[in-house]
Amino acid sequence: MCVATGYVSPVVEQLQAQSTNTTSSQSNAAIRLNNIQPVNNGLMLNVNANPQIKVQREDNSDRLIIDLQNTTLTKELHQANLPMNRFGVKQVRVAQFQNNPAIARLVFDLDSSDPNSKTVWQSQYIDTTNTLFLTPANKVTQAIPIEPNLPSSRPINPINSASTSIIAAIEKLSFSSTGQLLIEANLPLSYQTNFDRASGTFNLIVPNAKISANLQRPSLAANSPIERIRLTQVGNSVEIGIKTIPGWQVRETQRLSNQQIKLQVSLNSLSQVPPNNQTPLPNNNPSVPSSQTVGDRRRGVIFVDAGHGGNDPGAVANGVQEKDVVLPISLKLGQALQSMGYTVYYTRTNDVEIDLEPRVAAAERINADVFVSIHANSLAPGNSGISGIETYHSRNSTVGQELASYVHSQIVSATGASDRSVRGAGFYVIAKTSMPAILVETGFVTNPAEARNLSSPDYQKRMADAIARGIDRFMRVRGR
Ligand SMILES: [Zn+2]
Repeated sequence: MCVATGYVSPVVEQLQAQSTNTTSSQSNAAIRLNNIQPVNNGLMLNVNANPQIKVQREDNSDRLIIDLQNTTLTKELHQANLPMNRFGVKQVRVAQFQNNPAIARLVFDLDSSDPNSKTVWQSQYIDTTNTLFLTPANKVTQAIPIEPNLPSSRPINPINSASTSIIAAIEKLSFSSTGQLLIEANLPLSYQTNFDRASGTFNLIVPNAKISANLQRPSLAANSPIERIRLTQVGNSVEIGIKTIPGWQVRETQRLSNQQIKLQVSLNSLSQVPPNNQTPLPNNNPSVPSSQTVGDRRRGVIFVDAGHGGNDPGAVANGVQEKDVVLPISLKLGQALQSMGYTVYYTRTNDVEIDLEPRVAAAERINADVFVSIHANSLAPGNSGISGIETYHSRNSTVGQELASYVHSQIVSATGASDRSVRGAGFYVIAKTSMPAILVETGFVTNPAEARNLSSPDYQKRMADAIARGIDRFMRVRGR
């Protein structure tokens, strides 16, 4: 599939030639395009089954693209070039556009000086002869090449019906900096949604709709969480496919009014502290910052990464699971930082499992000033006497080491825990982040006394406040 393009590719027409004996199982089977030839009323294709057809006509384009879904070309047809010089079409180029799933593509090079080039094309599939006709709409009456009463002859299927039934036009798509994609139409809309896991595309299907010729589209910035928005006319429905970059997804859809649908695009399992000082509640529907919560970035943006979670408990000893103590410390840390005026983001605010890669990706996406990962330590049996604080930075990062030193000294003096020193290490989250990053080992769950401390809300708060002070000193020294 294509890479991020940052523009909306309108697919303005789609046709599915009618064929009563084409079952869904048949349409899943590979279809072979054996031959294609210009005929009096259009193009005649020999295909062993009736393919789904998608037609694209881009704005101001002198090309019409017809894609036969799930269809493979015979070798002879590959890169074929068929002169037409009629119907406003100069020539038709044939190519295997894609292999898996297979898409056979016909590109009609249009003569834009010919008014016929604006013509809508239609399709008709004849089961008995394995023939697919593609015909300009104004040639409809001539498009039935065999006896009209032949039972397997199916009626012409209009591509872009001139019917006067009520069809809403999708007129505008806009994307806000707070991750909201707004879809607006000139008439009331209904919609359905689905998610195509294979392609990572969220689809919103609007029945009884068309794409306005004057469709306004958002210009997606290079760092937009939306990689691509594709509009496709499927019969009388418009399919809006939204492909997000890794780590992001369409979280919810909402009807803003009869004519407006809002989609919220958010990081997976990422949350931000509420704007007031409430304790953030466990949240299964985290969202990207809205304009109310994003606050003032000038003070600084801190990314708080509570280690482990979900099926990954981290270190376990003395009845304490690491994931359960690092989460409250992280939430308390976020609150402390926010009360100092920082903007805070969390990897997680509840007990969910998150891979390391999206943790780093989220911090990068947000362009955090500081990344702080909260963990608890453990040692093999026989080492239960060992306790204390270790603060890690990436081995080659002097600025990370500086941050680690500020935080570490604050923790040791505030908690009285053993000083097990600032250390360089290659942990993924501190090695892969581009901003100053530290990983704090807040204590050993394998030490009974420290396990008890780590489970204590008071101790957790002292720990969190100390980490926040260390980060604040670091930020101030750096001129924030
Ligand atoms: Zn850990």
